[in-house]
Amino acid sequence: MSLIVFHTIADCKAWLSEERAQKEGKSDTGFVPTMGYLHEGHASLIQKARAENDIVVVSIFVNPLQFGPSEDLDRYPRSLKQDLALCETLGVDLVFAPSVYEMYGETPIMTRIHVDQLGEYLCGASRPGHFDGVCTVVAKLFQIFAPTKAYFGKKDAQQWRILRRMVADLSIDVSIIPCPIVRENDGLAKSSRNVYLTAEQRREAPALQQALQQVLRRFQEGERNVDKLRDVAMDRLNAVPGLRLDYLSFVDDETLTKVMTVDEHHTVLCAVAAYFGSTRLIDNQELVGL
Ligand code: AMP
Repeated sequence: MSLIVFHTIADCKAWLSEERAQKEGKSDTGFVPTMGYLHEGHASLIQKARAENDIVVVSIFVNPLQFGPSEDLDRYPRSLKQDLALCETLGVDLVFAPSVYEMYGETPIMTRIHVDQLGEYLCGASRPGHFDGVCTVVAKLFQIFAPTKAYFGKKDAQQWRILRRMVADLSIDVSIIPCPIVRENDGLAKSSRNVYLTAEQRREAPALQQALQQVLRRFQEGERNVDKLRDVAMDRLNAVPGLRLDYLSFVDDETLTKVMTVDEHHTVLCAVAAYFGSTRLIDNQELVGL
């Protein structure tokens, strides 16, 4: 079957209900929400969705609700033609590529989904309202596609944890599947935003992952004190002239609250966000207790 591309919610709903009726119970649906400008990170989620489901849906929508007023909504990179070609190669059944008008209509949206606490730490602190925008669009997309499983990258460590909480709290019947971070050869996490980096910033950007790797190594050697682990990361990050740190945090894997030591029985998330010029990059490393 060749790729189907729809721009309206009504078309998606009509196609899905027919497809599900025809497949008679064999219609597990894997859903991969994206903002497009697809790279191997997105592709890895799509491949997993393809392997685990009967129907695979990808959405491509640069969601204005999750951008702050001084953020990069207008210049966010777009490449629908190449994205569709990649989706076709990966065996996607349906791509939903709506306009802002199709998603939100003429009047400003009045309903937003807010996940307390989890949405306020880490990236939520420097991007107020960001996760409300994410949750609102993802809840709406879940409503449209009623997927069995939805695939999210661990690169956005806070995002998938918030969405997991959102679907539990709202009894939305979908499994949130976190997927490994896909990286460039030098360790930089693949991101649509890497295209903004100058050549010099691009050379410096792998420092984020290098700092996290050094933390992981020290953790594996037995260090459990967070201040000491932080020093290890800061030594690397401070050595990068073009880097402006937003945060480097050690938080509980579930509650996202700060921890002082890495308890043997809990997983701690070490998360970092930094600016290279005006480009904000994020990365993270899980420190898994015994
Ligand atoms: P975006 O288009 O940036 O909104 O990302 C769409 C999905 O792809 C999100 O679940 C991201 O976490 C995921 N993603 C983005 N970059 C990567 C990566 N390097 N590795 C794995 N997943 C990623």
